[in-house]
Amino acid sequence: MTILDGRRVAEKVVAAAAADIATLARAPGLATVLVGDDPASEIYVRNKRRRCVAAGIRDLHRRFGADVTQDELAAAIRALGDDPGVTGILLQLPLPPHLDADALVSLIPPDKDVDGLTETNAGRLALGRPGLSPCTPLGVLELLDAHGIALAGAEAVVVGRSNLVGKPMAQLLLRRHATVTVCHSRTRDLAAVCRRADVLIVAAGIPGLITAEAVKPGATVVDVGIHRTPDGLRGDVDFDAVRAVAGAITPVPGGVGPMTIAMLLANTVAAARRTAGR
Ligand code: ADP
Repeated sequence: MTILDGRRVAEKVVAAAAADIATLARAPGLATVLVGDDPASEIYVRNKRRRCVAAGIRDLHRRFGADVTQDELAAAIRALGDDPGVTGILLQLPLPPHLDADALVSLIPPDKDVDGLTETNAGRLALGRPGLSPCTPLGVLELLDAHGIALAGAEAVVVGRSNLVGKPMAQLLLRRHATVTVCHSRTRDLAAVCRRADVLIVAAGIPGLITAEAVKPGATVVDVGIHRTPDGLRGDVDFDAVRAVAGAITPVPGGVGPMTIAMLLANTVAAARRTAGR
């Protein structure tokens, strides 16, 4: 049984991004936009900024109070979009409920959209055209590739259909010639569908959802979930039970999490190149 070590692979991706940045005429500038005081979002944004700065990306953080209005935030995002010194924009979600996140995301110029969330980038991904794709599914692919897990012709099952993870994950797997099944909260007999998978990717946001009976012996299991529990950080997969059945599995923490941040760096470099027309 192989542990898919996200920390180790992420270090390589980060080093490659840093080397790339050193060759650019001007360092990429990433504007992380944080609204309100959600503690998890604060930690995520702090970690992203720290890794970006370490790789040579200019940190253009913008912070807004929980009472910021839609118009104020829209004006700020438009200004970042127009600013040639800003090559990437990341609007940290979720936003406070009085704000319309979709409308704000749509103000990000697609070539500065380092989270790959705009309609243009989602469309490019669906049509198989070059663009910026969400960091977590990109990180999952990078992790699988680093361990030589074959995707062409494989049965891949994705649990979850969010715009940030499940849907783009399915598109990316399809692009790599996997046979893709997408499960969600209304799927009948989830375990039976998951048992078909050679590669099982779980992004449902439910701790311990996937038990050993949902895993085909020898399958590769990738756990995108992360939950704070009284026993520490846990994923959507019951790690201790599933590791006995799986051929390869990601740990939580130390699996997909570090890959997501690494791919943000890679996307920030890609966005800077797109913005500069190189
Ligand atoms: P994320 O952004 O991390 O993917 P979301 O909370 O936005 O997470 O989405 C959770 C996804 O998980 C949804 O697509 C939902 O359909 C799926 N899901 C939720 N519960 C179940 C379940 N019991 N079985 C399978 N899929 C589920």
